[in-house]
Amino acid sequence: MELTLFNTLSRKKEVFQPIKSGEAGIYTCGPTVYAHAHIGNLRSYVFPDVLKKTLRLLGYQVLHVINITDVGHLTSNADEGEDKLERAARQQARSAWDIAAEYTEHYLRDLRRLNIDVPPDLPRATGHIPEQIAMIEKLAAGGYTYDTEDGIYFDSARFPDYGRLARLKAEGLQEGSRVEMGGKRNKTDFALWKFSSADAQRQMEWESPWGKGFPGWHIECSAMSMKYLGERFDIHTGGTDHIPVHHTNEIAQSEAATGKPFVNYWLHGEYLIVGEDKDRDKRMGKSEGNLLRLQQLIDEGYEPLAFRYLALNAHYRNYLNFTDQALKAADAALMGLRRLIRGVGGEAAGAAEAPSEEAQAPVETPKDGREAALLADLCDDLNTPRALATLWTALRDERLPAGKKLALAGFAEGLLSLNLFDFSRLEAQEAVPDVIREIAEQRWAARQAKDYAESDRLRNLLAKEGFSVQDGKEGYQLLKFS
Ligand SMILES: [Zn+2]
Repeated sequence: MELTLFNTLSRKKEVFQPIKSGEAGIYTCGPTVYAHAHIGNLRSYVFPDVLKKTLRLLGYQVLHVINITDVGHLTSNADEGEDKLERAARQQARSAWDIAAEYTEHYLRDLRRLNIDVPPDLPRATGHIPEQIAMIEKLAAGGYTYDTEDGIYFDSARFPDYGRLARLKAEGLQEGSRVEMGGKRNKTDFALWKFSSADAQRQMEWESPWGKGFPGWHIECSAMSMKYLGERFDIHTGGTDHIPVHHTNEIAQSEAATGKPFVNYWLHGEYLIVGEDKDRDKRMGKSEGNLLRLQQLIDEGYEPLAFRYLALNAHYRNYLNFTDQALKAADAALMGLRRLIRGVGGEAAGAAEAPSEEAQAPVETPKDGREAALLADLCDDLNTPRALATLWTALRDERLPAGKKLALAGFAEGLLSLNLFDFSRLEAQEAVPDVIREIAEQRWAARQAKDYAESDRLRNLLAKEGFSVQDGKEGYQLLKFS
């Protein structure tokens, strides 16, 4: 089966053609580890995970690299401001190294909670300083750099194709105000190496041929991706916010350094929006002050995979509207899938147990039409909402034998990773005391009768007893607050 991916370079869906037959290299821009990742950040790691699992199923050997940015990411994208790690260290009177280690751990734990397959090693920018210096030296030898008072800069005017990814128009690009320009020649030039300033002691700094300092954020990704995936590799992923600056600069410096095309397919995930509004201003971001962490959802009693379901239920190139209601609906849907699977599992022998790791790892091309349909959904630019719909339709199909349903569910689990065979929460819910169950039944009846005052009264009563109710079209679900 062919895999098509929407390539930001061409703004089209293209059939995936690997550089090396049977292999796929993927680089995903990782977090800057000075604070917690929010769920908007985490969303952008779900689709590369599905991509990786789909590629594996198609028989590719996948090498996936996610980096850790632990130095060089400044508070302003215009090479101004403070290093985010150094600032956090100063504010908290702590070691920048400790902060990086702490938030790297939090990040990895969040990925694991979302069933994201974490590569065995995540390269850190601070662990790859010589590689970055070597690349800057290469650029300097090619005449692509110049010195300013505060660092070594990439001269974007020397790279004729600058801005191709973002389709930045050449005119107007180079004009900037004096403030924005600093010592830069062109507005789109960017720092490759920044000098440590004389008046503030940095915790993270290194000697270089140009003086003591630290690397720029963009050069990190080029140096690390090339080290592990080669000068030219298949797929690079990130958020849409990386298109105009970070990825544009990665392409410019990488192609200037090697003279080769850098990456064949650029995939970008869209923002998570807080609320119903499609307004971009409502995107979740640190500067917007509307951050939600995965841990907060867990503290509210949610299973992390409810968020994964929510993320999968929107196409990665669409905005994801995050509301409490949407998360509740995603959680109820996830439980609904498990209930259906357990239901058919009861009829088929030995299906109540989750498949082993090995059985979950999808290695065979599907023989069944429904499995092929689900795979085709994912092969169509990772259409996860359609894949979920395919799974739902099959599980609800009364004519489909239980064994086939279970096989499809196992197949889907290998790609979507929703712990579909974990029935522990269903069992816990069924352990609800009779008296609580009775109140819930009364509330549902009141709601059906449109007696909302009574329904609210009973809902509050349940809340006092430590239970919340989620309503769906065909019924309700009782959740125990943990
Ligand atoms: Zn990056």
